[in-house]
Amino acid sequence: MSAPLAGKTALVTGSTSGIGLAIATALGEQGAAVILNGFGEPAQIEAARAQVGRSGGRVAYHAADLTRAADVAALMKYAELELGGVDVLVNNAGIQHVAAVEDFPAERWDTILAVNLTAAFHTTRLALPAMRARNWGRIVNIASVHGLVASTGKAAYVAAKHGLLGLTKVTALETARTGVTCNALCPGWVLTPLVQRQVDERAVRDGIGEAEARAALVREKQPSADFVTPEQLAATALFLCSEAASQVRGAAWTIDGGWVAQ
Ligand code: NAD
Repeated sequence: MSAPLAGKTALVTGSTSGIGLAIATALGEQGAAVILNGFGEPAQIEAARAQVGRSGGRVAYHAADLTRAADVAALMKYAELELGGVDVLVNNAGIQHVAAVEDFPAERWDTILAVNLTAAFHTTRLALPAMRARNWGRIVNIASVHGLVASTGKAAYVAAKHGLLGLTKVTALETARTGVTCNALCPGWVLTPLVQRQVDERAVRDGIGEAEARAALVREKQPSADFVTPEQLAATALFLCSEAASQVRGAAWTIDGGWVAQ
């Protein structure tokens, strides 16, 4: 039996760590050739390459800084030259900064909007022509519960993730009569480096231990009181890539332990 994504190519932005790495690994296991992207020390990038390639598929890496439109264009060109294009595009890279609106550093706002929203616009617009030509494509945008609801201190992140859901819906409508789909995943808390930093800040702020800070953080928003795992998100992304999901279009799919059901 051939792997479901054999012969397909996938680009996962921000896949040197966390959720992106788990999704890239799952796509590799399904037979896709994968392009990794993201920051990291050479050893971390090599480890990511080895992990994604362990099922025997092709793995490439491009160091594009997604805050720069020219880098995104170079990344998409590389995907075309290296693997013949992008069939599965996962816009996953994301960053966070926590501060009240009136204290929010303007340059942090610009960077968060660039990575979490504008980069997805550029990858999408550059990937779509070839997807349309092949009449097959899957675009999976990693948004957040913060694409649907807000939290204090996260103005740029919440604005960017709401925007990413808007981009998802428009892309889904414009491709509705084709074999290309575009959807978003909206995770609640996932214990990755992005969230570990918030756990550490809370531990310092409240003068508590790391384990206590972690438990308090997840309990505050997530009724399940348990973290979502990167592997659970990867499994859902794989479903969105399957034929069974070919009529799932423009969805904002929560995987959040009940966060936005409240
Ligand atoms: P992470 O910090 O573990 O990984 C982020 C990835 O993005 C890394 O590979 C990093 O190198 C890359 N990246 C950052 N800036 C970049 C840039 N300028 N150019 C290229 N790559 C860049 O974070 P994560 O928790 O795995 O987050 C992945 C996605 O999931 C993000 O979009 C995040 O908003 C979203 N998300 C995370 C959670 C959570 O609880 N962790 C919840 C909801 C949504």
